[in-house]
Amino acid sequence: MSEVKQKDQAYVAGTYKRFPVEIVSGKGSLVYDENGKRYIDMGSGIGVTAFGIADDEWVAAVTAQLGKVQHMSNLYYTQPCARLAELLCTRTGMKKVFFCNSGAEANECAIKVARKYAAAKGEGRHTIVTLRNSFHGRTLTTLAATGQDHYHELFQPLTPGFRHIEAGNIEELKAAVSAPDTAALLIECVQGEGGVIALEPAYAQEAARLCREHDVLLMVDEVQTGNGRTGSLYAYMQLGITPDVVSTAKGIGGGLPLGAALLSEKVENVLSFGDHGSTFGGNPVACAGAISIIERLDDAFLAAVREKSDYVRKALSGAPGIEGVTGMGLMVGIKTKAPAADIVRACIERGVLCLTAKDKVRLLPALNIPQDVLAEAIDTIKTVCRELAGE
Ligand SMILES: *Cc1c(COP(=O)(O)O)cnc(C)c1O
Repeated sequence: MSEVKQKDQAYVAGTYKRFPVEIVSGKGSLVYDENGKRYIDMGSGIGVTAFGIADDEWVAAVTAQLGKVQHMSNLYYTQPCARLAELLCTRTGMKKVFFCNSGAEANECAIKVARKYAAAKGEGRHTIVTLRNSFHGRTLTTLAATGQDHYHELFQPLTPGFRHIEAGNIEELKAAVSAPDTAALLIECVQGEGGVIALEPAYAQEAARLCREHDVLLMVDEVQTGNGRTGSLYAYMQLGITPDVVSTAKGIGGGLPLGAALLSEKVENVLSFGDHGSTFGGNPVACAGAISIIERLDDAFLAAVREKSDYVRKALSGAPGIEGVTGMGLMVGIKTKAPAADIVRACIERGVLCLTAKDKVRLLPALNIPQDVLAEAIDTIKTVCRELAGE
C-alpha cells in the first residue's frame, strides 16, 4: 500500500470507504493517480468541479483574489461577495442571498428562515415537511430533515419538528401542508443521494399551489441539482414552480467550499442583524471562483449541457445490462443488472470514475466535459454493464 493510503488509514477518521485510488493531478475531466494512470472523471467530486479540475478561468479568478484579500470577516464589505449575490439574484429573481460553506449549512439557513417566518404568524408553526428518501445533509438538524431512517438511528435525539411524506402522494401532501403546525415544505427537484429520482412536475406544481394557499414556505434544496447541473441554472426552473427559498452548494464554488440560501421577496427580510452568521460564509476567494462559474452558465452553455444529457441518455437507454436511465441533465442515474458497486469498481480498473446512489450507478460529469471524452467514458460504462450482466 502506498504511504499516502497508509497514513490516511492510520490518521483520518474512518467515515469514508475510499476506493484504492490516490488522485494526484488533473485537468478538465481527466485525472491521474500516483502511478500516472489516467481516469475520466464522471463524478466531478460529487458534482462540485462544475468546469472540471484546474479549470483555467476558475484558477485565474481564484488566484487573482488570493493575491488581493483571502478573507475578511463579515464585519466589512468585499467585492466578490456583493457581486456574486447580485449575479444570483438577477439570474433567479430572488432578492437576497445568505452565504455559508456547505449544503447542510445552506439548508440550516433555510430552516431557520422558515421557523422565524412561521413563528411570526402564530405559535407552534414550526414543522418542516420533507420527502421520504430525501437527503439534506449531515448536521443533526439536516439529518432530521433527511427522510431516510438509516441515517438517524445512531444519533438520537435529532432536532425535533420534521415530518416526512411520500413523494407523489397528493393526499399526504395536502394533509401535511394544511396542518396547523407546518412552516415549510423542503424538496429536492431530483433526489440525488436517494437514487437520482426526479420529482413529477405535476406534483411539484401542486405542492407549490398548496404552499401558497396555506402560506407555507416552498423551499427547494438545489445543493446537487443547482448551478447548471440539470440543464437549467436551477432545476426548479424546469418544473414550473417558484420557490420562496433555494438552498445550493456543491457546484456553485467550482471546487471551493461555498453554500448559499437564496431568499425570495416574501422572506428577504426575515433574517435581521444577529439572527444568523458564518465566519467563512461569503469568503472572497470562494465567491470569486463562483462568479467565474455562474457567469459562464448562459443559455448557450446550458443548451450544450442538455445536448450532452440527451447523448448520454440515448447511448445508455436499452443497452445490454442496463435496465433504465433516470435523472435530469447531467445528473444521471443508471439502473444496472449487475450490482452498481461492482460496475463502479470495474470502471475504475478501466479508467473511468463513477459514483453510486442507492442501487444505481450515478454520473455527475463536469458540465463542460468534451464530447469525445464523454463518449469514451460512456463506451466504457456500457461495456462494463454488458460484461458484468453476462450479456
Ligand atoms: C450533498 C447534499 C447536501 C449536503 O451538502 P454538504 O455540502 O455535504 O453539507 C444537501 N442536500 C443535497 C440535495 C445534497 O446533494
